[in-house]
Amino acid sequence: MISNEKMSGKKIMNDKGYVMSLTSFLLILPVFLMLLVFINMTVGQADLQQSVLTSEDVLGVTKDLETNIPRIGREVIKDKSEEVIKSGIPLSDSRKSIRDEIQSRMDIWCSRYNYEGIRTDCDILYVDNSQDPFQIEVKSKIKVEKGELKHQENLTQNISLINDSFPIMDPLPFVKCREHGGATIRGNRIFYGYSLSNYLESRGINNSEAYENATSPLYIRKCPYDPYELHGSSQDLMNLKNCLDNGFYHESSDGSCFLCRLEGKGVCPHYGMETFILPAPSENLSYLNNSSATATSAPDHVIFDDTGHGTYPGHMIVYFNNGTHYFYLYLDDSHRKKYGLPLFGD
Ligand SMILES: [Zn+2]
Ligand SMILES: [Zn+2]
Repeated sequence: MISNEKMSGKKIMNDKGYVMSLTSFLLILPVFLMLLVFINMTVGQADLQQSVLTSEDVLGVTKDLETNIPRIGREVIKDKSEEVIKSGIPLSDSRKSIRDEIQSRMDIWCSRYNYEGIRTDCDILYVDNSQDPFQIEVKSKIKVEKGELKHQENLTQNISLINDSFPIMDPLPFVKCREHGGATIRGNRIFYGYSLSNYLESRGINNSEAYENATSPLYIRKCPYDPYELHGSSQDLMNLKNCLDNGFYHESSDGSCFLCRLEGKGVCPHYGMETFILPAPSENLSYLNNSSATATSAPDHVIFDDTGHGTYPGHMIVYFNNGTHYFYLYLDDSHRKKYGLPLFGD
């Protein structure tokens, strides 16, 4: 009996114990689940934070490269132009040499990121003319990687040649006049001395001496008198005078583009720009104003076209008299028309 009771008692205890442990299990389970969820969440959050950080890094570096390609490109263009001006020796392939130099400076720029575990790669695909002759187009491909995250972008960017705080010089006159005595820099103008008349004389151009001590603009600046007919819109030619005093450049399909100027080409097939080369002001107009007062027309592509047919004469326009000197230029009728100036009738 006792053993039976004991046995049944034990059985009850066993039942109770089983019931108890199930209850406590059910009680513990939510805590356990919550703990699991919590652990998961913190791990997940750390992961999330890490990937947000990584993508911020990657996008930040991408943005940095995006803003620095045009900046570095502009420095390269300026340096190349100064190099040509100093030596007088033109670049043989300006597009390639600017591309190569931007590439090597971008490689150095990208390598700064390597220590942060970021892999950057910047491929300058090409440098070429933009539709706007006052801009240069750069195409590039940038890749930024960190861990699993990869970002790639193809960029087409324009570099302006006419940023006022970062002016770029026109290299063409220095190439053309190198072997004729050389052009020099005086303030913000190019001073030719005898070099331009020597250059024109060497090509058998009439009245080449008209360009003794001539000057032209040094920096490429875009003319604000647009439409160009505005140059002749005032009776006293004040707009023309302002344009010439400031040394502005104009869009021109005949004028050489900037990239070809670096190659020493006075004319080229691209849509380009033109500026005016001015004779030295004269004290004595009667000597100049006789019937022989024609000389090579003032646009620089007319003066520097040594390919055979592009140099032609123009008649004198006097645009200012300061009391002691007459200021004038020689201009053909088709350019007079473009700039809204009185036609000579030739
Ligand atoms: Zn102008
Ligand atoms: Zn060109």
